[in-house]
Amino acid sequence: MLSNLKLATFTWILAFLTGFITVVIIVSSYFVEKNIVVIDNAWQLYQTDLSEKARLEGALRAAIGYGGMIHNFKNYLLRDSEEYKSQVESNIGAIKAFLKQYSALELTTTETLAIKDILAVVTAYKNALRKAQTMKAEEYSLSEIDQAIAVDDHPALRGLKALRQATFSKQTNNNPINKTRIIADLRAALGYGGVIHKFKNYILRHKMTHEDTLQDTHLINEIKINIQLVEASIRQYRQLPLKDSEKLALKEIESMLMQYSKNLDKIPELIALGESIKEIDRDVYVNDVPALRSFQILEQEVNRQISTHSINVSKALEAVNKAIPLGRWASVFTIVFLIFIVILLIRFYIIQPILKLTKNMVRLADNQLDIEITGHQAKNEIGQMVRAVKVFKTNVIKRFESEETLVQVNKALKQKLEENKQLHQRSEEEAHKAMLMTEQMISARKAAEKDQLLVSSILNTVRDGIITINAKGIIETFNPGSEKIFGYKADEIIGKNISLLMHEPIKSAHDGYLKAFSEGKSTRDQSNSLDQTAQRKNGEIFPVEITLNTIRVANELRFTGLVRDITERKEKDAQIEKLAMTDSLTGLANRYQFNQRLLEMQQQAKRFKTQFCLMSIDLDKFKPVNDTYGHYVGDVLLQRVADVLIYCCREIDIIARLGGDEFSIILNGIHDPKEVAILAERILNKLKTQFLIENHPIQIGASIGISCYPKDTVDIKSLQKMADEALYLSKNEGRNTYRYYHKI
Ligand code: GH3
Ligand code: MG
Repeated sequence: MLSNLKLATFTWILAFLTGFITVVIIVSSYFVEKNIVVIDNAWQLYQTDLSEKARLEGALRAAIGYGGMIHNFKNYLLRDSEEYKSQVESNIGAIKAFLKQYSALELTTTETLAIKDILAVVTAYKNALRKAQTMKAEEYSLSEIDQAIAVDDHPALRGLKALRQATFSKQTNNNPINKTRIIADLRAALGYGGVIHKFKNYILRHKMTHEDTLQDTHLINEIKINIQLVEASIRQYRQLPLKDSEKLALKEIESMLMQYSKNLDKIPELIALGESIKEIDRDVYVNDVPALRSFQILEQEVNRQISTHSINVSKALEAVNKAIPLGRWASVFTIVFLIFIVILLIRFYIIQPILKLTKNMVRLADNQLDIEITGHQAKNEIGQMVRAVKVFKTNVIKRFESEETLVQVNKALKQKLEENKQLHQRSEEEAHKAMLMTEQMISARKAAEKDQLLVSSILNTVRDGIITINAKGIIETFNPGSEKIFGYKADEIIGKNISLLMHEPIKSAHDGYLKAFSEGKSTRDQSNSLDQTAQRKNGEIFPVEITLNTIRVANELRFTGLVRDITERKEKDAQIEKLAMTDSLTGLANRYQFNQRLLEMQQQAKRFKTQFCLMSIDLDKFKPVNDTYGHYVGDVLLQRVADVLIYCCREIDIIARLGGDEFSIILNGIHDPKEVAILAERILNKLKTQFLIENHPIQIGASIGISCYPKDTVDIKSLQKMADEALYLSKNEGRNTYRYYHKI
């Protein structure tokens, strides 16, 4: 129900409620105002009444007690002055007037009875005054007069007490210490029935002898009690805020009280001295005038304060009376202002944004999507609604866009479908062709597979290594032949750089070479095979023959290397070379090698400006050994001679068998040709020693010819010739000796 309530209706309900509250406030304030007026009147009356009663009660006590009827009456008895009598009469007149005034007020039963009692006692005193006058004239003693006219004061004292209670009982509720009440207490304790009254009675009625003083003692005690009461009341009065006049008045009353107290102590001594009542009265005379004036001052002050309070209360009530209409109009104005503000707020912050939002929603529903929706920043419910509408708008736009896309997609789909239909027809036609092609392809593929199988079986069986690398030198294929040659498994080397199979310095140079080739800068002919060295997994460096080929697969440059391990071939070559260079019987260098080494030696000596000598050796009488012991023994002897030569020569010397029993030695690093003579002698000595071959003692010798480079000649042919000539010289000169070409 509430959720269906329109905000505008809600605004009117709110306005109505506020208006209603305003009316209630106005009515209630009107009633309050009225009541305050009533209260004010009642208060005024009460104050008047109460102050009147209090004033009358005080006046009564003043007229009866201290300075009043009793006081003057006692003074009349004690002192021979007619003035006191007339004062008593006037006091009685005043008392009656006060009682009459009191009776005119609204009284309780207790108050009415009290007034009657007081009036009866006052009447009794009036009679007593008359009787006292008669007895004085007949010269009765004071004591006799006092006894004859004795009036019972109790009803009047009780009456006064009752009046005081009736007067102050209301006031004491909220105001426990009250000056009026203290003054009343003071008067009660001091005046009628109090200190002065009993003091006078004590003077008049004391016992003449000391025998029966009990009654006197009782009276004295009562006086003292009353003195204490008066003192207590004065103390109580002093606790209240005082004016200077009040302070002085209290001091006056106090000094009067002190005088009475002192005089009270004197009385028994005066009685003991046998003084008459009159003499005692004269001796203990106290001037009451200042104290009585003080009482008047206190009462005046109290009355003044009461009237001040009353005026203040009246003023306050008057202010309240004035303030209430003002408050009423202020509240009316405030409420009307509030209503105005509330309506404005609701209009501007709720109704207008909602109307705007509703309008926008209607436009959105009408597919007007270009409208701008504002107010979404607000953090209230309206803001939430605006945000929701914004989201709605976005969704609508998206929906439109997606619908548009959908239409286009549908169109495209239809077109596609049409195309697909045509394509389908075409593809069916082509499928047949494709089938035929596929069959052809399958057979071609089978053939290719067969070829591939063939290729791979070749690759697998070929002994040579076939390695493919890419342009960066990364190994891509590594056939079993390569595995055997290099000691690597294909798995562990494929993906690694080809330089792994090389050693320094080829290894470092390879990357640069490959790069140069890739960039077309290399001038090296790839088609020819070349001998190179490579490195196995175990670090062994070995000779290889490499044939390189470049191929392009999918436009990428690749290198195929056919690697052949040529260790065996190289060894064979070396052996052949060795065979070609050495004498097969003795293992010494043959003539071919000798000539080559001689040429090298010549070049070396030429370059380093060194000298070397050539020693030609021919065995003496070798032929007979052959002839005697056979060719075999001759061969062994030739081998022994070779051993002797190796033994005698240095490692750097080149020893050769040039043929038959002819040997030649190239002696390198010779500083002086004389050094050669020592070697020649050593060789000769060794060779002339008997050889034992196949148990045949064989004795031979040798002839040596020496030529030196460059001393003899710088031409090596001539040098050989010169050594041969020197050899012949040795032969001719008796054999088993050596000769230099030129004598040294
Ligand atoms: P001379 O004292 O003058 O040097 O005479 P000779 O006996 O040593 O004989 P000469 O140097 O003239 O001849 C060398 C002989 O060596 C000739 C030949 O029969 C023999 N001869 C040559 N080659 C071989 C060979 O390979 N083995 C053997 N056992 N004898 C050979
Ligand atoms: Mg010979």
